[in-house]
Formats: sequence, C-alpha cells, structure tokens
Amino acid sequence: MSHPETSPAARYYREVLKGRDPETFAKLARIKRFMERLCGDLQFRLDLAAHPYDPQVVIDPLGLDLDAEALRPLYDLRYAKHRRKLDELEPWPLAKLWDEWLADMIGHRDVIAATGKDLETNPAYSSWRARQMRRVKSEIGRASDGIVHASMAVELSEGCTVGCWFCGISADRFKGYLPYTPENAALWRDVLGAYRDVFGQASQSGFCYWATDPSDNPDYPRYLRDFHDIIGHLPQTTTAAALKNLDLTREILAMEREMGSVVNRFSVLTKKQLDQIHAAFTPDELMMVELVQQQKESLNGISDTGRAHERKVRLEEAGKIAELARENFQIGTIACVSGLLVQMVPKRVQLVTPTRMSARWPKGYRVVAEADFTDAATFRAAIEGFRDHHMRQQIYAHDRVAIRWDIEPAIEGDQLVFRNEMTTQSLDLVDGLREIAPEVVEGRHTFGELLQTAIQRGANPFEAQAALRMLFDNGLLDEEALAPAGATGPAPTSSVAMASAAAE
Ligand code: SF4
Repeated sequence: MSHPETSPAARYYREVLKGRDPETFAKLARIKRFMERLCGDLQFRLDLAAHPYDPQVVIDPLGLDLDAEALRPLYDLRYAKHRRKLDELEPWPLAKLWDEWLADMIGHRDVIAATGKDLETNPAYSSWRARQMRRVKSEIGRASDGIVHASMAVELSEGCTVGCWFCGISADRFKGYLPYTPENAALWRDVLGAYRDVFGQASQSGFCYWATDPSDNPDYPRYLRDFHDIIGHLPQTTTAAALKNLDLTREILAMEREMGSVVNRFSVLTKKQLDQIHAAFTPDELMMVELVQQQKESLNGISDTGRAHERKVRLEEAGKIAELARENFQIGTIACVSGLLVQMVPKRVQLVTPTRMSARWPKGYRVVAEADFTDAATFRAAIEGFRDHHMRQQIYAHDRVAIRWDIEPAIEGDQLVFRNEMTTQSLDLVDGLREIAPEVVEGRHTFGELLQTAIQRGANPFEAQAALRMLFDNGLLDEEALAPAGATGPAPTSSVAMASAAAE
C-alpha cells in the first residue's frame, strides 16, 4: 500500500508548534496548568475570589512561576470582556499568550473538520456529511461548533472498563479486546486500506475509540502505528484512564511527539484524579494534552445524552434541584462522527451521524445503516454500499416531505420559520415555496404531491423544486421520513427530469 501524503492537520499542527520558541512553549504549559486548576478545582477558584487584590498568594503555591497580574483576564470576571480580543490584551501578556494559543487550536480543529471533506474521492460522502453538519448545527446550536464530523471511529475493544456515570454514548460493560495477532493485524490493515480508498483524504479525520477506552487494549499503540502508516495521520487519543497504565499512556504521548498532528485528551473524572494527573505529569508533558474535566467541581457542563440523560431524569423525578443545577446538563451530543463506526471485535460497521438525544436516538447519534463483515472484501462491500445507497443526494417523487421532529415550523408574514429550543432559521416565501408552504408545515405530503400542488396553484414547479431542495440541503427535513434510497429506483438523471416526472 502506498504511503499517503502528510495530513493538512499535521502540517498546520507543526506550523503552530514551530512558531513558538521553547521558552514561550514552557510558559504556555504553565498557563495551561493554571487554567486546569481554575476550571477543575472549586477551592482554588474560591481562594482566588477571596484575594482579588493579592492573587499572587493563591497562585504561587502552584509552583508555576506565573505573574498573577499578567494573567488577570483569565480569572477575574471584571476583565473577562477583553478575552479573545488580542489587541486589548497587551497589558496582560500571559493572558494574550494564552488566547493566541487558543485561537491557533481552534484553527487546528477547523482544519481537522475540513479534512473530513474530500469532494474528489467521495463526493457522495462529502455532500451527505455537509448536510448532516448543517442539521446538527440547527438541532443544537453553538454546541455543534466543536463537532468535527470525523469520517470514522473504531472500537478495538468491546465495552469499556471505566463505566463513567455520564457516558453520553452509554458504553457497555467491558467484554474483551482485540489482540494484535497476525490475523487481526492483517484484517485491520485491510480495513484501513478500504477505508482510505473509499474516503480519500477524509480518512485522515478518523480515530480509534468510541464506546471503548484506549487503555483497555494493551496493543492500542500497535494499531495506531498501522493507522499512521496507511492513512498518513496519527489519530487523536482520548482516555479516561490515563493513570491506569502509565507506560501505555507515555508511549502514546511519545508517538504524538514523534508523528503528532493532533492534541490528545485525558478525561478527568474526579478532583482527586486531577491532582494525581498533575502529580504524575509535568506541565511540559501535558502541554499537548487537553484535560476534559468532568468532575463535579468543574466548570464544564455535561451533555444531556446517554447515561447522563438517565441520571438527569432520575434527579428530576426526585426533585433534586440543587444537584440538577450543579451538573449543568446541556442540550447536545458527544458523538462527533458522520461516517463509519467500526466495531472490530464483533466485526460490525455502521453509518452514523450525531443528533440531539431523543427517545429514538438516546445515545446522541443516529444509525443510518449497518452491516456485519467477515473479511476485507465484505468490509469494503459494506462501506461502498453505504456510499451508494445511504448517503442521500436527492429527494424523490414519493418521499414524504416532513420537517424534523424538533422543529416547530410556522408561516409568519412573508417567511417560513423553523424554530426549536436552540435555533431559529427562516426562509423568505419566495415564488414556488409560497404556494406550498402550508403543506410543507403540515408535513404529510410527498415531494411529488407538493410539486403537483405548486403547479395547480400556478407556481413554476422548478422553483418549488428548488425551494424543497433548499430545505433538504439545509438538513431541515426529517431524513428518516424519506423512503429508503433503494426503494426509489434509479436517481433521475437531472433535476429537470425529476420535476417533469412529478408534474406528469
Ligand atoms: S465516557 Fe468513555 S471512558 Fe467513560 S464509560 Fe464512556 S466510553 Fe468509557
């Protein structure tokens, strides 16, 4: 197999690192540790609040050699208005240094998200994924900004030993892991080859965990090396058990330094674990590791999905208002893949995409299609089938045109408004849409019926078709209400053919 080009994310990442000298980097590592205490340690925050005029006495015991005044906008709410405005941060050089770093990291995340698109190799995937991205943004608003819509996640174990109460994808109990035997390694490399062939550059956004923790598979680094070898990108690792096997964790961190292209992440489950992680790793060692702080003292919220949602329901039923407030449940999802979910132990592959948690999709992602595989050929056939039959490109005459369940559509003046708990979108009632807007709101009619209605009311069917297409492209339609792609017959050769067929 040929070695693909270095990924755009890796190039960006190296540029960001190269642009800072070791002294600046060391300073950033210490600011980062300060920020971790601020985010995850309630007592530290209280102590800082109690010393507004002499914060140095609170910061010095951290042993980070940081000037409290130079950091002030990072912790003093009175100065928070200057955050992210680099030209206003000159008086606080450490805060400026930090916000410059964050801007670069957000840029890196955007590069990874852009990597998930490869119009040349797989235009069907790229347009399907783009529509899912618009839908998720409309479903959960700003919480969608951090979702990269990666093209693949792989489970190299079955279940998870960690058992977090807030697990947004409700990971099952651990059942075992995939050892790196010659047979498993050969299948893994073939799976990666097929994935790369079908997804092209978009394959560089994949990663190797889902409802599993990397630390549960002692061979995880060997699988990562194959990934880098075949895909040309070292994927991100997130673990909630960084301390379980320090040798394994350090090996993963060393790989990041060797081939790195993305920040790794440690989930932190308790304040005690934060202390232990800080004791085990120096600030410099953790510079390229994001701590995702989930402990109750943390300022971070919890996505209202999976097991977290189950707990929220229990708290609501018990009337525990204070605990509900403290957990800070937020509408969202922790799913970040619009693409393949590959389970290497049971040999199953699914096409998935994030969605707002619901009774239908309690884990915050939708399963669009799934298949079992036994070898490389059946895996390749499965993912080609996903591409050809489940990444919708069109709406067809007998598809039911219904607005998504979470949206309350309404005609307001000369606009069609789509409102849910998180967002409001509106479309002008242009020619073609105006004539069929009441039926679109009703959501009971097929695409063909709507075009006929448009014609009966004197509208141009091509304009009506374009309006409906806009709803589809923006992810406002309930895709599950559309007929299965295989049931629609061959795709019309052009949009003109589609409109004509409906009008006959
Ligand atoms: S959040 Fe991650 S580590 Fe925790 S139970 Fe779920 S999969 Fe396992």
